[in-house]
Amino acid sequence: MVEIKNFDVMVVGAGFGGMYMLHKLRQQGLKVRVLEAGDGVGGTWYWNRYPGARCDVESVQYSLQFDDDLEQEWNWSERYAAQPEILRYANHVADRFDLRRDIQFNARVSSAKYNESAKTWSLTTEEGEQFEAPFCVMALGCLSAPNHPHFDGAENFKGPIYHTGEWPHEGVNFEGKRVAVIGTGSSAIQSIPIIAKQAKSLTVFQRTANYAIPANNHNLDDDYIAEIKKTYKQLRAYAKTMPTGVAFDFRDIAALESTDEERRTEYQKRWDRGGLSFLGGFKDLLFVKEANDTAAEFVREKIRSLVDDPKVADMLCPENIIGCKRLCVDIGYYQTYNLPHVKLIDVSKNPIQRITSKGVLAHDIETEVDTIVFATGFDAMTGALNRINIEGRNGRQLREKWHGGARSYLGLAIAGFPNLFTVTGPGSPSVLTNMLPSIEQHVEWIDRCISDLRKSGKTEIEAEVVAENNWVDHVNETAELSLRSVCSSWYVGANVPGKPRVFMPYIGGFPRYVAKCEDVASKEYDGFQLS
Ligand code: NAP
Repeated sequence: MVEIKNFDVMVVGAGFGGMYMLHKLRQQGLKVRVLEAGDGVGGTWYWNRYPGARCDVESVQYSLQFDDDLEQEWNWSERYAAQPEILRYANHVADRFDLRRDIQFNARVSSAKYNESAKTWSLTTEEGEQFEAPFCVMALGCLSAPNHPHFDGAENFKGPIYHTGEWPHEGVNFEGKRVAVIGTGSSAIQSIPIIAKQAKSLTVFQRTANYAIPANNHNLDDDYIAEIKKTYKQLRAYAKTMPTGVAFDFRDIAALESTDEERRTEYQKRWDRGGLSFLGGFKDLLFVKEANDTAAEFVREKIRSLVDDPKVADMLCPENIIGCKRLCVDIGYYQTYNLPHVKLIDVSKNPIQRITSKGVLAHDIETEVDTIVFATGFDAMTGALNRINIEGRNGRQLREKWHGGARSYLGLAIAGFPNLFTVTGPGSPSVLTNMLPSIEQHVEWIDRCISDLRKSGKTEIEAEVVAENNWVDHVNETAELSLRSVCSSWYVGANVPGKPRVFMPYIGGFPRYVAKCEDVASKEYDGFQLS
């Protein structure tokens, strides 16, 4: 007989979402168990240890704000923190709030089933351990299920194949190695310059060229840190008024109402400053194609000026809308192609044919390599949930419900799946915002919801189908207003063969979304059935 362990709330995932959820629920006096597949905390920052991994939101903003002392005592060393520093921060959070004693590591959840009569969730791990609780919170992360595209022959490749999102903890030494990188998204753009420094040769297989803006990363000095700490409250409050939940200057001026010179001055200023705020220069960049073209052409000119070989520069110049796929932030990416041992192969029209025992075959030419790196991204937003066998009312599976695309009420709850919450689920702003405040907002909403239920003596909460449908319609209508919905990105699931094309995150902005969540909670959970 398998022993069933009982808790008040089961939380899956020990990234920032799962850790903060545990902390909040404990403060309510609840008995909580967090199950985590890895052997440490940190989620995204635990798994993505590839060379060059770094946050593209400034570290002073990509940090938790629920605890003043935590905020004041932690010192970020760089403008954009590298993965090891963020992982250290995650571990610091775990230690500071004594979280580890309620986190079970190396526990990958394989199924979560709702028992309608008992009104409990039963969770089973791959090792066969069982847990039961009235509430279950999935804090799985939005970019945590690696996308492994199928390539014929991959099983015959003689050397190691790595995925950026599942990087070996001991690291990889590319010294003297011939390396292939497949993919040119953010992970590739960060890792390619570093791999190139070590490798004997590097061949990059590019299906879609990407826009990258220089990070202009630098160390943070004591005066800057002191000033930020003095004014943290104001900075955080201002950030929460911005659509992205990040404090940077968005200008309420249209590119198409500005002169060519004004546009160039603004783009140059933002290029020099570095980072994602490049697209905040004009309000129409993500809404009007002609406006977007002006920014796209500016970056293409930069690429042509940075890359010596005009043919390679042409291949690196993206044709699509800038910011449609997530904009990348780089440290010397384009310049890497000036190195004599780095080669770019375009596989946009003719895909990679196969992986052979010795390398990669494309355009009928075999590139022999010792190591292959898949920088092929994630089955974003729904992948991690769908990889668990989640069963709601009447034994209905979540992946079956989401067969035609994710449907969720506010990205927080799903009709047919009572007492189940998702942190930054599809339909929430999540990946279009600064993840940490978005995580905090979700956790606090869920915490309050569970607390309100307990106070009112109710035992079950479930999103209503009508509310869910209305929200999904609103998410879709809002997405259609933006140029972001028109290209083949992971936002619409286009990177995973067979995945339904639905714009998954909510593009209406952080303040509007928070107001909606507040409104729902204040109206006794409008759109939810409570019993
Ligand atoms: P990604 O943006 O989805 O990029 C995956 C790359 O692999 C794309 O270039 C894609 O080409 C290519 N690819 C996929 N399947 C392929 C195939 N069968 N053949 C050839 N190429 C293939 O994934 P990612 O770079 O891991 O980034 C995902 C997201 O994670 C980012 O957008 C960002 O939100 C986040 N991230 C953030 C940071 C940061 O904070 N700085 C760093 C890394 C990741 P297509 O474009 O043609 O599909």
